[in-house]
Amino acid sequence: MSTERRVAIVTGAARGIGAAVAGRLSADGFAVAVLDLDAAACVNTVTAIEAAGGTALAVGADVSDEASVAAAVERIATELGAPTVLVNNAGVLRDNLLFKMSVDDWDTVMNVHLRGAFLMTRAVQKYMVEAEFGRIVNLSSTSALGNRGQANYSAAKAGMQGFTKTLAFELGKFGVTANAIAPGFIETEMTAATAARVGVDFEAFKQAAAAQIPVNRVGKPEDIANTASFFVSEGAGFVSGQVIYVAGGPKD
Ligand code: NAP
Repeated sequence: MSTERRVAIVTGAARGIGAAVAGRLSADGFAVAVLDLDAAACVNTVTAIEAAGGTALAVGADVSDEASVAAAVERIATELGAPTVLVNNAGVLRDNLLFKMSVDDWDTVMNVHLRGAFLMTRAVQKYMVEAEFGRIVNLSSTSALGNRGQANYSAAKAGMQGFTKTLAFELGKFGVTANAIAPGFIETEMTAATAARVGVDFEAFKQAAAAQIPVNRVGKPEDIANTASFFVSEGAGFVSGQVIYVAGGPKD
């Protein structure tokens, strides 16, 4: 089967990394479900894809809500076709030092990243198994290795890696691969919000980050989109259960 007939779902695709991944997968020949909390927020991503000659569907859904996920995946299957590529990208930050971290900060981050990836993957895997083909890409982070002020986020992003490896074991025999991308500093609204939270001008924040990165620049959403494009390709069928750090240099 050629990629022209394949359907991809990208969560958190209204902006940032998700929007770039959605655009890249469309350029690669996929019909793309652009899923985010608010369907109206997906308009820019969908319009850009359509302007470039691609096919996209804006889908409003909360990945942490079981009923919302079930309805969204069913709608995508009906309107675009059976989804066989899933990029679990939706994410939030609720940074704080442990002693100031609320239960809500903890639960929100766990729910969006881990519960969200679980619910989305469970809902989509049946289409992959039926097609005897599937590609799952989960967004981890260099924060999985530990990061001050991110007990919740680092635990969730380390969890994404364990989740990915388990999917690789369980779904491999059905032609489904699962891999994780662990980005370093990527220039998006998420990192802009972090700069604002610590009271540093975003340009200065990026320059300070770039000085610590071997390739001497911060990442762009396209850096992640390029990596996702490889993982979901036909040719990557023997690459599964891997975590690739896309961080401008090596990470442990
Ligand atoms: P972003 O600009 O904040 O975009 C995240 C998107 O996810 C937003 O559109 C957000 O919608 C959506 N979202 C949040 N909760 C959701 C939910 N429950 N259901 C559906 N969509 C939801 O973030 P980004 O920088 O592009 O990051 C994308 C992914 O990469 C995240 O998983 C992040 O943790 C990971 N990552 C980013 C970096 C970085 O440096 N930027 C580094 C490592 C890993 P709303 O606007 O409505 O909240």
